[in-house]
Amino acid sequence: MFKKILIANRGEIALRVLRACRELGIKTVAIHSDVDESAMHVRMADESICVGPASAQSSYLNIPAIITAATLTDADAIHPGYGFLSENQRFAEIIEEHNIKFIGPSSEHIKMMGNKIDAKKIMDDSGVPTVKGINDLSNKEKINDFIKNVKYPIIVKAASGGGGKGMRVVTEDDDLEKSIKEAKIEAKKSFNDENVYLEKFLTSPKHIEIQVLCDSHGNVVTLGERDCSIQRKHQKLIEESPSSVLNETERDKISDLCRKAMKKINYEGVGTLEFLYENNEFYFMEMNTRLQVEHPVTEMVTGIDLVKEQILVATGEKLQINQSDISLNGNSIECRINAEHPESFIPSPGKITQYHQPGGLGVRVDSAVYDGYSIPSNYDSMIGKLITYGSNRQEALKKMTRALEEYVIMGINTNIQLHQKIIKSDEFTKGNYDINFMSKFN
Ligand code: ADP
Repeated sequence: MFKKILIANRGEIALRVLRACRELGIKTVAIHSDVDESAMHVRMADESICVGPASAQSSYLNIPAIITAATLTDADAIHPGYGFLSENQRFAEIIEEHNIKFIGPSSEHIKMMGNKIDAKKIMDDSGVPTVKGINDLSNKEKINDFIKNVKYPIIVKAASGGGGKGMRVVTEDDDLEKSIKEAKIEAKKSFNDENVYLEKFLTSPKHIEIQVLCDSHGNVVTLGERDCSIQRKHQKLIEESPSSVLNETERDKISDLCRKAMKKINYEGVGTLEFLYENNEFYFMEMNTRLQVEHPVTEMVTGIDLVKEQILVATGEKLQINQSDISLNGNSIECRINAEHPESFIPSPGKITQYHQPGGLGVRVDSAVYDGYSIPSNYDSMIGKLITYGSNRQEALKKMTRALEEYVIMGINTNIQLHQKIIKSDEFTKGNYDINFMSKFN
C-alpha cells in the first residue's frame, strides 16, 4: 500500500482524493499555487507545498515543480484528479521514470486514447459501435464520398480535443472548408495539434457513458452508465445514473462490449467510454482515461468508492469486486455548481460572503469552498457538485429540488437558479431529453 500520495490538483477533486486516502490510512501532500494558499485542500492535507504562481501553466501544469514536490515530500504515488495533467501522457511517463506511481493507466494507454481518431479505430476493431467518420482530410474526393454517404449535418472535431473545443457543425458544402480551417486554428491553439476529422453529426442523441474499472491482472468490471445529455457549449451541467431510457438488455449489451474492449487493450485503472445514443443505438465518441467529474452518481447507485478502488488497483492489488457483485440500486443526480452568470455563463470569481450547504439523507456536496472563501479567477468556474440519491428517480429529483432551495451562496453569481428551473422542467422530469435540451431551454 502507498504511504503517501501527492494530489496534483485543487478544489473539490483534491478533497475527494484526500478523503479516500485518509480512509485508506495514506498520508497526503497537497500542491498549490500562491493564490490557493488558504484553499481547503491545502488546509486538510497532511503536508502542502507551493508549486508556483497563480496561472495554471506555472503551477498545476508545472511538471518539473510537481515532480520536485513529490521527490521532496517522499510521495510514492501521484493522483492527478481530472483536468490539468490527468490525461497528459508525458506527465505519466516522467512520473514512471522517477519511480513514482501514477494513479491512472499507463502512459501508452493515455496516448492511445488521447487521440480520438486512434481511439475510435481501436474501439471499432474491438466491435464497439462508433460514429461514422473520416480522418484523412487531404483527399477532397474521399470527403465528398463520405458526405454523400452520411449526408449533412456533419461535425468537424479536433483529434486531441477536449472540453468541447475545436468543434464545428456544418450543414452545407459552402461552409465546409471554412469550418475545417477554423477548427484547425482553434485545435492548434488549444491542444497544440491541428489534426481534425469529420463525423456524422447526430441531431438528437443522448450522451451516455459507461464507467469501467480494471486491475493490472486482466480483471475488468463496468459500473453502469451515466446520462450526461444536459450540456451547454458541449460541456456537461447535470448528470444522472442510471439513464431513464436504457433497459437492462441494452445496458448489458453495451457494457459487455466495453469490457471486451478494455480486456483486449489490457487497460488498467478507471476510465469512461463516452457514447452518443440515438434511436436505441450506441456510437462511441471517445474514452477518458481518468476519474470523471460526474463519478459520484455512479458511486451513489453502486455503493462502490471509485477513488479507493482506483488507488487500490494502482498498488497492483487484484479487484475484489466481480461483475455479478455490481448492481444499480436507486437513482442519483448531480448538478454542477458553477460560479458564473446564469445566462451569459461568464465566470463570476470573488468572495463568498455567506455560505450554507444543504444536507440530510440522500444529499451529498462535493465542494472545497467555505464561508469567506475567495474564488480566484485563474481556474475553472465549477466550485462544487450537488449530488442526490433516491430509491427511485422521483425521489432523487425531490431531494435535488429541496437541496437546491437550501443551498445559499452569496457574494458571487452561481447557476443554482438555472438548475432549479431545469430540474422542475417537464422534459427533465420525464427524463425525456437529449443533448439539445439547453439550446431550447429558457
Ligand atoms: P470533448 O472531448 O471536447 O468533450 P466529445 O467528443 O466528448 O468532446 O463531445 C462532446 C459533446 O459534443 C458530446 O457530448 C455531444 O454533445 C457533442 N458531439 C460530439 N460529437 C458529436 C456528433 N458526432 N454528433 C452530435 N453531437 C456530437
